[in-house]
Order: sequence, then structure tokens, then C-alpha cells
Amino acid sequence: MKPDRALSLPDSAPPANLRRGRSITGVKEHNLQAILFALLRYGPISRVDMAQLTGLSATTITNLVTDLLEQGIVEEAGKIDDERAGDRRRGAGRPRTLVRLIPDARCAAGVHIGVDTVRVGVTDLFGELQAYRMAQQPEDASPECLLALAAELIEDALAESGKCRDCLVGIGVGASGLTDPRTGVNVLAPSLGWRDAPVRDILERLTGRPVTVDNNVRAMALAESMFGGGRDVNTLAFIYSRVGVGAGFVVGGQLYRGTQYGAGEIGHTTVVPVAGKPCRCGNSGCLETLVSEGEIVRQATLLAECRPGSILSRALARETSIDAVFEAARSGDPDALGVLDDCAFHLGTTLANLTNLMNPDKIILGGVFAAGADLMLPRVEETMRRRAFAGLGERVTLAVTTFGRKVGAIGAAALALDAFFYNRQGTDA
Ligand SMILES: [Zn+2]
Repeated sequence: MKPDRALSLPDSAPPANLRRGRSITGVKEHNLQAILFALLRYGPISRVDMAQLTGLSATTITNLVTDLLEQGIVEEAGKIDDERAGDRRRGAGRPRTLVRLIPDARCAAGVHIGVDTVRVGVTDLFGELQAYRMAQQPEDASPECLLALAAELIEDALAESGKCRDCLVGIGVGASGLTDPRTGVNVLAPSLGWRDAPVRDILERLTGRPVTVDNNVRAMALAESMFGGGRDVNTLAFIYSRVGVGAGFVVGGQLYRGTQYGAGEIGHTTVVPVAGKPCRCGNSGCLETLVSEGEIVRQATLLAECRPGSILSRALARETSIDAVFEAARSGDPDALGVLDDCAFHLGTTLANLTNLMNPDKIILGGVFAAGADLMLPRVEETMRRRAFAGLGERVTLAVTTFGRKVGAIGAAALALDAFFYNRQGTDA
């Protein structure tokens, strides 16, 4: 069943900028948000259907749609008896004019801050990527230097997409580590050496546009839920592995963040409680010490050293990377296949635990797990289904992200679009 954010909007805890609004402006923003959601999710849609979905009066709908038409955000798109005749046309009456969002009426930018790169994407209102930029991080990876680079990449990407800065509804930043989305502060990111970095303030000052900040894997989960493979499910888990391993959860169309915004640190769940390898978090035996990209390559390298001349050994001699391990496995190297099989087993076990805890409709994998899905997915799936409690694993759909390596930038842009469609932060309307 489809999640129905439109109908739950008035009942769910509203963002602070909506709670303040018993003022006319606040009510208008709330109504506009409901209409934008209906257009995003169900458009093209008639004004009558909009009223039914949102519970707003016909007059309110008419006035707000007129505003949106004048701003060039929506357009009229034929009559319902031309395009959607039949059961949607309840009873006799005048044909209804359909209204739809114009995808490129506005755009959003996403900044994905990885461990050594910065990736920037500009998308349309439906999360479709229009331009993409990637750069190595500067030697000085302080928040000021790194975000100055991000601001330059945003300008480049905007120029390529033919958009101006005023068209930007907002900028989303997906950062690693613990991030407070209320304050836009990256509280702790060990891989970047950041502590209490005021990401939102710095980037808003540099760009003059509203900025939304959240954890990078959580942002990817949001993108899957809004525009990707999680669009039609109620409960979604997204798991990502590169340098670290993280998860993002979407329940009923809303990100689940946890009390201290720490939900999703699946990479630091203890898998080997005794004599496990030390983890960069200070604990030992974490999932990350078994299935991160670096660990897979490290284990493969150790095996290759024991078997000089093997396919794996030759592949790693050309390039010490996860792609070399995948290449050797695809050529049938037993050591490479064994390392990936172990990785898939540990991930599958973790997903069985996750299924028992969360009972999701769908789990989507990204990063290493997506790049090596042909080699690992069957074992991951078999392990998850077998180990989950009472057949819960049988009902979970397991899939791989369709956004590929650009999922980080698209995810970050989804943060800005989420703010535009649901919170109405920083818009002129
Ligand atoms: Zn750890």
C-alpha cells in the first residue's frame, strides 16, 4: 500500500516553521505544502482530487493553484476525460482540468561529502539529475575550505544545467558521521576530522540559498523513498558500504532519525563480541570490520600474497581496489569468491537481525553491495531469509540502488527537495 503523506501531514509532528503558524502566512504555507505534495505524488491531478486528498476547500485550492501557475511552478495539462477517463471520473459533470508540476521549473542541489571526494548534483523537482560534478577534497579539509569547494562545484553544475541560483529551491548536504538536522551542525565526523562543524551556516553564507544538512546515508534512503525503488513502500531500510557502513530508515514516508539523530549506525553493531578486530569507533568486532570496502580489499590482498600468480594476485597487482577483487571473482578466482561470500554472509546475517527488529517492506543496498551485487546478492538474500524469525525474511524485498555511484549527490538533493515539498523552508512562495 502506498504511503500517504498528504493525509497524515496535519496529524504528524509538524516542523518548527509550521508549528509557529497560526498566522495567516503559516496556514498558507501549510496548505501550499499539502498541495505540492499531492502534485508531486499523484500529479497530473485535478483541483477536485487535490481537495479530496488534502481536505482543503475548493476556494483555497483554486487560489493557491493560481499562485503556483503565476510562479511558473505548475501548468495545466489537459482535461481528465481526455487522459484519465473511466473510473476516475466519478459521476457526470464538467471535465476536470488537470494540473501538474513543471519538473524543471525549479531545481535543487545536493552535496555529498565523502571521505576524500566532494560530489555535487543539480536535480529537477523530481530528483532527476541535470548536472554532476566531482572533485578531490582539498588538502585542508576544514569545513570552510571544503564547503567553499562545494559552493564552486554548485555554481559549475548550475551553469551546466542552464539554471540560475534563484531557481534553486535549496541545497542539501549529506555528511558522514553524527549530524543534527535542526541546527545544520555536523557534530562529529571522524573521517573528516570535524567536530561541531556549522555546515548549514557556512554554506548559506557562501551561496545565499537555504541549506539542509543530514547524515549522508540517511539522505540516500530519503532519495530512494521519494524518487527511487522505495517510492511505493511504507517501511524502507537503505544500507550503504564504502569506507564505512551505514543505514537509513524511512517509515511512513518520513526519515527515522532517532532521539540523538544516531539511528542507522549499523556498521558499528557488534558482530564478533570476543576477539574481534578493532574498529575506528573504539569498539571491536563491529560489522564494519568485516564488510567495509577497505576490509574486503585487505583480506583479498592477504590471500593473494599466499598465492602468487593467481587471478586475484594479478588483478590486485594492477590496482589495489575493490574493483580488482570483483574482476578476479568474476573470472572465477576461488579466494576472491570466498572473501565476497564471507562478506555476503555477514551482511545477510545483519539484514536478518534488521528484519527481526524493523520488519521492513524493502531493503535497498548501495555502495560496495550494489557494485558487487552479481557476486554477493544471492548469498545475502539466502542468509537473510533463512535466519530471520518465523519467515519474516520471506516478505522482505531486497534490491540494489538504481542511482549507482551518484546516489550520494541525489540523496543530498532529496534533502533540499524534502524541505521544499514538505517543510517549505526557504522558499519565496
Ligand atoms: Zn565500530
